[in-house]
Amino acid sequence: MDGHTLEAMRTTLRGPIIGPDDPDYHQARKIYNAMIDKRPAAIVRCTDTADVMAAVDFIRDRGLELAVRGGGHSGGGLCLVDDGVTIDLSPMRWARVDPTARRARVGGGSQLGDLDHAAHAFGLATPAGIVSTTGVGGLTLGGGHGHLTRKYGLTVDNLLSADVVLADGSCVVASEATNADLFWALRGGGGNFGVVTSFEFRLHPVHTVGVAVTLWPVDRTPDVLRWYRDFLPQAPEDLNGFFAALAVPPAPPFPEEIHGHKMCGVVWCWTGDPDQLERTLAVVGEPAPPAFHFTTPMPYPVLQGMFDELMPTGLQWYWRGDFFDTITDEAVDVHAKYAENLPTNLSLMHLYPVDGAAGRVGHDDTAWSYRDAVWSGVFGGIDPDPANAEAIKRWAVGYWEDLHPYSMGGAYVNFLGADERADRVKATYRGHYDRLAEVKAAYDPNNLFHANQNIEPAGRS
Ligand code: FAD
Repeated sequence: MDGHTLEAMRTTLRGPIIGPDDPDYHQARKIYNAMIDKRPAAIVRCTDTADVMAAVDFIRDRGLELAVRGGGHSGGGLCLVDDGVTIDLSPMRWARVDPTARRARVGGGSQLGDLDHAAHAFGLATPAGIVSTTGVGGLTLGGGHGHLTRKYGLTVDNLLSADVVLADGSCVVASEATNADLFWALRGGGGNFGVVTSFEFRLHPVHTVGVAVTLWPVDRTPDVLRWYRDFLPQAPEDLNGFFAALAVPPAPPFPEEIHGHKMCGVVWCWTGDPDQLERTLAVVGEPAPPAFHFTTPMPYPVLQGMFDELMPTGLQWYWRGDFFDTITDEAVDVHAKYAENLPTNLSLMHLYPVDGAAGRVGHDDTAWSYRDAVWSGVFGGIDPDPANAEAIKRWAVGYWEDLHPYSMGGAYVNFLGADERADRVKATYRGHYDRLAEVKAAYDPNNLFHANQNIEPAGRS
């Protein structure tokens, strides 16, 4: 893009436009995953919906490549495009809560922590992911699961409306009442349909939750995982517990003697009567004696930020995922093998529950197409050192390849690997893919928004 084009864009928009010659360019193109090194021709920091409308018109009319940045947390760096323009929504971080109606509206560039912080002041919350710096935008549009999912559903199950700037530069409201087909597609279909400049969510009464972490030695993984797969689905929906393979972080509350040890474990969140948590978890000794078991009450936003320091911006990440409706004994063996062979201390495997309230939403009510899944699994190779990039990727791919035969066939769209393509996107959406392609054809017929896990407009593929 020549200097003339950049200057022309600067006269159109209110927010700053950062090009390769600007001193803050290299900082501006940094995203959460340091494995991604893309060089956009310009990064357009939009301040409001008007800026986004103008930017979309400008980019489309000049035939430029376009990407949209929410929180910048996608594994594949979908928010950047080499030699194209990134619409960066990071100035649009705000939240407004209506405590009477139990609703929150947040800007399209908000992070999860912005929503949690604002809602907590009123004793309210809505389900979202487990690291507070993740973007509300990408997480919500992919579906969104976290500590409150068994009780209150996916993030999209709590989405009430969205303001969306479409490929033609117009701005519409998507809700059950207006543009219902677009609203259906936004609830799981990713960033394919336009730029969401604000999201409106339903909130629930959640203030202080019971939190527990239980760890067992890694060689007990088969016993623990078999117990967990039977225990969790029949446990009260006030109890969420994601299973993890990990190396114990070198920080409190973990005692020094287990720092760095490979373990398997469950991170529990309890939204029921605080006095009942200990009793509900009295069973954790059944599969094997825990090496560590800790319970505490915690304000919900503190839980949401609990992993932030362990997972700062700038690490190397490669992940893959799949959905599971059961964990067979053969799958347990695969998990045990890869848990023993974690390539680095930050690498992990998580199985996030997506049953309970999430599982009761009608299969065709939203674009999310795995209402019959019980877990959304992710195998993440993570390390600060770029020299380990290949090793962490090899581990994650090997894990995925060995476990995939025991999966339901597709993954949560936000857990697709950076190099996974069309066939895996189709596996994510199963029977909903064709309907998504029709909505895409209606709202973005020329596929302007294709820097994402792309759904080709119907009639083009
Ligand atoms: P970005 O890279 O900015 O965007 C991702 C995609 O969404 C891009 O295609 C982008 O164009 C599009 N997009 C973003 N915002 C908008 C918008 N406003 N309008 C239109 N399109 C938009 N997921 C969970 O469900 N639960 C978890 O607990 C969870 N934990 C995570 C923890 C970490 C540390 C990380 C790195 C990821 C986690 N994820 C989790 C996955 C997360 O949902 C995805 O990485 C998601 O893509 C992040 O969204 P983002 O806006 O930060 O990313």
